[in-house]
Amino acid sequence: MKNFSILLFIAVSFIFLNVSAEAEEKQPTQIKLYAIDCGRIDVSNFAGFSDTSDYDNKSTKLADPCFLIIHPKGALLWDTGLPDSLVNKPKTSDVYYLTKSISLQDSLKKINLKLSDIKYVSVSHSHFDHMGNLYQLTKSTWILQKAELKYAQTHPNPFVIDASKLNSWNAVHKIMISGDYDVFGDGTVKILNTPGHTPGHQSLELKLPQAGVIILSGDEFHQRSSFIPLRVPTFNASRADTMASADRIKLLLKNTKGRLIIQHDAQDFEGLPKFPEYLD
Ligand SMILES: [Zn+2]
Repeated sequence: MKNFSILLFIAVSFIFLNVSAEAEEKQPTQIKLYAIDCGRIDVSNFAGFSDTSDYDNKSTKLADPCFLIIHPKGALLWDTGLPDSLVNKPKTSDVYYLTKSISLQDSLKKINLKLSDIKYVSVSHSHFDHMGNLYQLTKSTWILQKAELKYAQTHPNPFVIDASKLNSWNAVHKIMISGDYDVFGDGTVKILNTPGHTPGHQSLELKLPQAGVIILSGDEFHQRSSFIPLRVPTFNASRADTMASADRIKLLLKNTKGRLIIQHDAQDFEGLPKFPEYLD
């Protein structure tokens, strides 16, 4: 009888443990998405953002956010915005008026984080308005698309960051990738290979526990009006690749009932929780 009680106890405990393990498995991973204001770009002549003359004689105002993803295995910074040197020192060129109201470091302080707390950083592509503060993230692991690094190093132009700066940071720990990349290995934060705007351009797919699938566009699209129908900028590496990447994103959104965030679209940015509020 005693033996039977022990066996019963073991069996019940086993069932109980199994049930709790299953319950634990079903718990969604806690992930937070913060959208941080990393600058604004007023464009006096938007014509260059469409090679089919949709924006001739038009002007616009673009947002330039950074996105911070907090995952149980660490933090990922997606895009680094305009350089902090612009804070209180706006810069004007023929077409662009660049402003920034707060440094990345000061933004992070609002959630008690330091730049050195960011485990991974990745940028959608090597244009100046996405790479502005990468040089500050020397303690982070950089996740770089091989094709993009090659492009930045071989195609110097006003949009692409000075490649010599990349060379000088050889000491930084890097993960070099070719194609999609699952950042934390659980499918919740995935870099999508979406070439075209630049050869190694990438977007980011998130699976948030409450908000569901979110896709951060990078510069695959610049505004809502360039999403459907697709407008391809004149400063674009491959029109065919941009169209194929747009198809992929549109199908992904359809099949996952996902939400697209067009990073430069000021309304998309305003539609996200105001930092330090977050989406989860
Ligand atoms: Zn760009």
